[in-house]
Amino acid sequence: VFDVLVVGGGPAGASSAIYAARKGIKTGMVVETFGGQVLETLGIENVVGTPYVEGPQLMRQVEEHVKQYAVDIMKGQRAQTIQKKELIEVTLENGALLKTKAAILATGARWRAINVPGEKEFKNKGIAYCPHCDGPLFKEKEVVVIGGGNSGIEAAIDLAGLAKHVYVLEFLPELKADQVLQTKLHSLSNVTIITNAATQAITGTSQVEALTYNDRITNEEHTLHVAGVFILIGLMPNTEWLDSTLDLNQRGEILVDDHGATNIPGIFAAGDCTDSVYKQIIISMGSGATAALGAFDYLIRQT
Ligand code: FAD
Repeated sequence: VFDVLVVGGGPAGASSAIYAARKGIKTGMVVETFGGQVLETLGIENVVGTPYVEGPQLMRQVEEHVKQYAVDIMKGQRAQTIQKKELIEVTLENGALLKTKAAILATGARWRAINVPGEKEFKNKGIAYCPHCDGPLFKEKEVVVIGGGNSGIEAAIDLAGLAKHVYVLEFLPELKADQVLQTKLHSLSNVTIITNAATQAITGTSQVEALTYNDRITNEEHTLHVAGVFILIGLMPNTEWLDSTLDLNQRGEILVDDHGATNIPGIFAAGDCTDSVYKQIIISMGSGATAALGAFDYLIRQT
């Protein structure tokens, strides 16, 4: 029986495991792929105190750090269900059953892909999903934001302050973002909004050079010559496996309080799988620490 079982091995899970293990309690980690989304990131420039690091390197260091403590890391394993009985029981896809006094869920999220030719090829070579992370790379350049929801329009406003010109592509006849964001966007002189636009392909040689889209009304094909493409069509939390065991918001994110606690006593959550407003590495690490300390406070109150 574990005292704390962490599910997930991204920044949030790793930070939870370190904080739990440092309390001298029996800590385990169930991890499908150690490193999480950070493995998909080339240059990271906003981990405070580390001006530049590549994703795989950062997560190798994080894994080494976890391994300095007695954490039982079960890699290549996916959690399938979680249930609270006398103890908390987590089943894995391989059929194993793990028991723990407290659990921390840190299964992260994934950006919805647009699934057009060039998207995989140019990931990290002009295609980005995070304006806070990669915006500064496109200073004085032309970029496209795909997606007219809140995250797309926030990104376009943010990027308009850095980039030379920002095109916003929306598939539907109108933007879906809050009116206040749309008003702000319309006030910017270096932004062009294109609705009814179905992205066809992203092209280039070694880096992104252009995006083609189809006008869904006229059926004409158009090309935008841009250095960057931000795809902001939705961040999906990896919470499908929870089914209806925990309270989630409409987006499927786990609801947590300021101790990282969910609605089930003893089950905590951290990082991008929760309803935290911003999704970033340092924020995930911070919420992982909060959830571990929350779990410890919970454990010392059990008889
Ligand atoms: P994740 O990193 O998503 O990790 C989730 C973990 O859970 C993984 O180990 C996964 O294998 C595991 N898992 C999932 N489901 C299960 C299951 N059922 N059972 C067991 N394990 C499971 N942020 C920045 O701060 N700076 C950047 O420059 C930056 N660039 C980014 C670039 C890209 C391309 C992307 C996609 C994201 C970027 N981010 C950046 C965001 C940052 O990566 C995330 O905010 C952060 O990784 C979230 O950490 P997490 O631990 O919550 O989740």
